[in-house]
Amino acid sequence: MIVEMRTGTNPEEIDAVVQRAKSMGLSAQLNLGTNKAVVALLGSNTGQLSTDTFAVLPGVERVTRIMKPYKLASREFKAEDSVVSVNGIEIGGKRIVVMAGPCAVEREDQLVDAVKAIKEAGAHVLRGGAFKPRTSPFTFQGLGKAGLELLARVREKYGIPVITEVVDPHDVALVSKYADILQIGSRNMQNYALLTNVGKSNNPVVLKRGFSCTVTEWLTAADYVLAENNNKLILCERGIRTFEDSTRFSLDISSIPVIKRFSHLPVIVDPSHAAGHYSLVPAIAKAAIAAGADGLLIEVHPKPQDALVDGLQSLTPSDFSRLMKELKAIAKSVGRYI
Ligand code: PEP
Ligand code: MN
Repeated sequence: MIVEMRTGTNPEEIDAVVQRAKSMGLSAQLNLGTNKAVVALLGSNTGQLSTDTFAVLPGVERVTRIMKPYKLASREFKAEDSVVSVNGIEIGGKRIVVMAGPCAVEREDQLVDAVKAIKEAGAHVLRGGAFKPRTSPFTFQGLGKAGLELLARVREKYGIPVITEVVDPHDVALVSKYADILQIGSRNMQNYALLTNVGKSNNPVVLKRGFSCTVTEWLTAADYVLAENNNKLILCERGIRTFEDSTRFSLDISSIPVIKRFSHLPVIVDPSHAAGHYSLVPAIAKAAIAAGADGLLIEVHPKPQDALVDGLQSLTPSDFSRLMKELKAIAKSVGRYI
């Protein structure tokens, strides 16, 4: 249930709504937006409550039910776009933010070559997996803590924020010490213990779409992070399973305007895991920006032919540099910049 307060309401009136909610066993989340305050009332029994219970309170303008399963991720709760700041880099504003780097952190020289290449080309954030959720247990699983330490060293030396995946709910505190952005991978989109733990951390979070999940399920999963008061949440479309097998996954380009319509959260796109092949990545990346994405997560490897993971879909530094130039033109054409 959403309680919209009148413009110019005061903290006492808002508090009265919150206290009444609490007395009924509900929890309340506030959006003190630029125009007016909104209180979301959350709990399993809101359906049985009359909207009048809150409409009668002073300062309340309107009480409505959110019929969708997701609440805090919805535009009903927050009409204005959310902008997530990572070390001063804003995601969800006019700038298209590009996160790039290898699928997995393999060695120090590999990561150093990667960071130099992506910085030179104009990327804003370094990606690199230390904990890798691999389909087979017999493939490279990532360097773990040693990989995090390499990322932190490179971050320090090259002055660039890093994004890396956290796979285990018990590792959230550890990964948060080294990373600027916590990545929740596609396979873990519905790992609710993990979502709750990253929600309790103070780090920005990228929530990738589960490759068998609908947009509604994705936004409802986002509520787990938002419910813990972590509003620094960014969504990432990375392709879904369809009958089509000419690409690794099918990038759901329409999810971008759908998210923009129903949610205030920023959305970025990972063209690499969707494509599965380096030759397809540039076209998909450009389409994503044209469709309104706020950023990209792209795999770039200094030597894709030697990559331990996902070499086939990784761009070389020179291909990435060319793509960045092309993306600038696309960004400009839709009123954005890189
Ligand atoms: C990744 O970005 O490293 C990754 C494993 O992607 P996904 O979770 O989308 O498969
Ligand atoms: Mn990968």
